[in-house]
Amino acid sequence: MTENEEKGKYDYSFDYISKKLEGKKDSYGMLMKEIIRTGICTECGTCAAVCPVLEWDHLMGQPKLTGKCTGCGICYNQCPRTITDPIELMGEFKTGYVANTNIPEVIGGQDGGTVVSLLCYLFDEHLIDAAIVTMKDPNKPWYPAAQIITSKEDAIKSAGSIYAHSQTVESLMDAIREDYRSIAFVGTPCNIDAVEKMMSSPAGMLKYFMRAHVLKIGLFCMDSFSPETLYTRFESDGIDLSKIVKMDINKGKFHLYQELNGEPVKSYTIRSLHKYKSSSCNFCVDLTAENADISVGSVGSGPNKNTVFARSGIGAEIIEDAAKKGYLTIEPFDAINLNAVLFLGKLKKVSQYNIQKRKVFIVKDQPSEESARIESGPVSEKAKSAFGTRRALSVVKALNEKEKILKLTITNTVGFTLEDLKVRFALIDDVFEKNPWMTTIKELFPYETLEIGYPVEILEGAVLIEASTEEHGKIFSRSVKFAPEEKK
Ligand SMILES: Cc1cc2nc3c(=O)[nH]c(=O)nc-3n(C[C@H](O)[C@H](O)[C@H](O)COP(=O)(O)OP(=O)(O)OC[C@H]3O[C@@H](n4cnc5c(N)ncnc54)[C@H](O)[C@@H]3O)c2cc1C
Ligand code: SF4
Ligand code: SF4
Ligand code: SF4
Repeated sequence: MTENEEKGKYDYSFDYISKKLEGKKDSYGMLMKEIIRTGICTECGTCAAVCPVLEWDHLMGQPKLTGKCTGCGICYNQCPRTITDPIELMGEFKTGYVANTNIPEVIGGQDGGTVVSLLCYLFDEHLIDAAIVTMKDPNKPWYPAAQIITSKEDAIKSAGSIYAHSQTVESLMDAIREDYRSIAFVGTPCNIDAVEKMMSSPAGMLKYFMRAHVLKIGLFCMDSFSPETLYTRFESDGIDLSKIVKMDINKGKFHLYQELNGEPVKSYTIRSLHKYKSSSCNFCVDLTAENADISVGSVGSGPNKNTVFARSGIGAEIIEDAAKKGYLTIEPFDAINLNAVLFLGKLKKVSQYNIQKRKVFIVKDQPSEESARIESGPVSEKAKSAFGTRRALSVVKALNEKEKILKLTITNTVGFTLEDLKVRFALIDDVFEKNPWMTTIKELFPYETLEIGYPVEILEGAVLIEASTEEHGKIFSRSVKFAPEEKK
């Protein structure tokens, strides 16, 4: 293979990424979900202007479908608020690889063992004299403890992800003060950003970075959790954390393992652990550690492999030399499932749009007054003329079988604020109503949600949801069936 062919094999190609994006069907549904329902639409009308089956709905202040959407994606791609540029989604980089370790002691680590293998290579080659890693706190199982390490043996011991914030930068500064001169720093994107800022902003820290060269190895990161609350939940589910050897987030699930190559002893959906998520992660838009020299993650590559981006020249040279010297196997950029990286990258970038939205949480725990009522009968004529065929509210249900709570997420799906909104719930027992309860919300802004915890004695049935406003009269009436998971 000629030098050019060898280079081309690993070359990052903007055309390649653009083609992948072109192939994606970013349809009206995504425009609705990401831009309109999140309230960030500027009402510029571009989407309606570029599509024959979209028209501008002046009443609702948003586009409206008048025919069949072909999923061509033009509206989505022309909208000024969507993020469609791959560089915006995953940062700039020189080359990409799928990688996995060749070091026997590292196989079976977190994913492909690429991070630890790179540290081993860097120590063996005397390219670094220290590395900053995160290990498990010996006194508190699975709590992160950032550490300065100076050997390959300790690098191997650092394998594995701990899904919690680690004070890595403190250890980095200690290492510089202790006169280490070339340091590999492993951290989440937020850790990498801190180092990047210290290395480039004149706030008194630059002199430290004159003394030491720092190689930034960033981990992909979708979210981290508060160990205090997350681990308390695990323990309340009977999990002995001291027996857990691996934690892993994969395809929307959080898995706990007692054996490295075994089946998980317990798995949770990420959604169910949302309340234990670190609040800072809600404001984070960087999945792939865009400011690192080398970024390493698992999304986009198969099991026991890593997706790796070399973002700086030194990053690319280190990965390719580590592969040449047998520490790693690397496959070219084409092996990366780029759509998976772009999809998750976009999910992270747009998740911030929902943050500012207020959520009203209500848990019904008191018996309510029987007098609470909303006029019976269908939706009022006034509401019909205001909302047309649209539903004023959308309802999503989730049954917590253990706590016997039916969680109802009610969203304002009209393009304006609903004032003095009365929402009434009642269990439907054959033809009779039981446990009626009503709440009034002064203002529910467009696409804001109301989360109601409604206690149910029996785990199967139906609940009637009705809503009215002073202005429009009755705007919504629907009965929602619920049943335990296995019966659905
Ligand atoms: C909080 C968190 C969230 C993540 N979310 C995703 C995700 O959504 N998608 C994805 O593709 N990948 C994610 N990753 C990265 C993934 O878990 C692996 O770290 C990555 O794929 C590298 O795998 P590896 O086999 O090379 O790791 P290994 O070779 O086992 O090396 C892991 C390295 O990570 C370091 N480390 C462990 N925990 C922390 C921590 N809390 N802070 C800083 N450094 C740490 C260790 O010191 C070790 O050096 C996340 C990692 C973390 C820590
Ligand atoms: S047809 Fe194309 S432009 Fe029109 S709504 Fe569907 S995806 Fe958008
Ligand atoms: S193109 Fe985007 S910002 Fe403009 S009206 Fe349509 S959804 Fe809103
Ligand atoms: S999601 Fe962002 S803020 Fe949270 S740990 Fe990851 S990089 Fe840091």
